[in-house]
Amino acid sequence: MRGLQDARRDPRAPDGGLSPLPGCAAPAVAIPCGRFAPSPTGPLHFGSLVAALASFLDARARGGHWRVRIEDLDRPRVIPGMASDHLRTLERFGLHWDDDVLYQSHGAERYAVALRQLERAGWLYPCICSRSDIAQAGLAGAEGYRYPGTCRTRSGSATDSAAWRVRVEAAPIEWPDLVQGPQRHALDALCGDFVLRRADGIITYQLAVVIDDAIQGVDRVVRGADLITSTPRQIHLQRLLGLPTPAYVHVPLALDRQGDKLAKRLGAAAVAAAEPVPLLCRALAFLGQSLPPEAPRLGRDTLLGWAIQHWDVGRIPRGQGWPAPPLPNVADSPEM
Ligand SMILES: [Zn+2]
Repeated sequence: MRGLQDARRDPRAPDGGLSPLPGCAAPAVAIPCGRFAPSPTGPLHFGSLVAALASFLDARARGGHWRVRIEDLDRPRVIPGMASDHLRTLERFGLHWDDDVLYQSHGAERYAVALRQLERAGWLYPCICSRSDIAQAGLAGAEGYRYPGTCRTRSGSATDSAAWRVRVEAAPIEWPDLVQGPQRHALDALCGDFVLRRADGIITYQLAVVIDDAIQGVDRVVRGADLITSTPRQIHLQRLLGLPTPAYVHVPLALDRQGDKLAKRLGAAAVAAAEPVPLLCRALAFLGQSLPPEAPRLGRDTLLGWAIQHWDVGRIPRGQGWPAPPLPNVADSPEM
């Protein structure tokens, strides 16, 4: 098994570090890059707009690229045509991206390469436990039951019709979140060894994100605070695969009146149909950014240009989230 210290070497370092995955070679001069990565399992809602806008402004304010990828690996949940809807909505809001959109459903080969690399280094093992097996072990984690390690000593090959888990270590993973402050999470207490490939062959979110952030050259991940417990898993995989760790900015979530994540059932149609400027103003206010008094009367692109110039990560309020503001043109929504 390769040591974590070795895996931590940055492939952009002068000594070359570990050999990067295909497509992950860093450019000679690193250009700042952010990204927005929606799942086409439902329409974009106000919370999605907040995350998209924050990552867009952060990348543009740093003079960088902003890329989009469609996280469509969980095919049974993907809604046909939804990815195109997402892209049209981003364009309506003036959030124009660089380069081609990356579709995870086209990424089987790059994920297979990463899995092979981890398997050869001894980090993976097959797991045949069911959800109820894991529940019966009764070990509490941050997101329900954590994996008790039942199959850690199983041997087998990648052709087994089993889930594939990656080993975690007891040492906590730490990073300085640019909004939420210093973070420290121990993966064995958070989730235990976690699944990278499901028994049905689908690659999980955690692995795909790590590979694609590297391929897209993302140096700062700006996303919703609900994903903060995914970050230590992703940093663990970056270290094992010899990939650079981006900076992380977890922005507060837009919640509904019951305090639940807005989710796609709420305000979604509103975002697709709403006038961009009033909604952009609400999203900027939600992110703690200052607005000029004339903001509601500015054109969309003028407002975005102003927001880029005045973008300040330090003004984003720290916290998991709070209720979304009343949205324009959605007075008929019973849940807002
Ligand atoms: Zn198992």
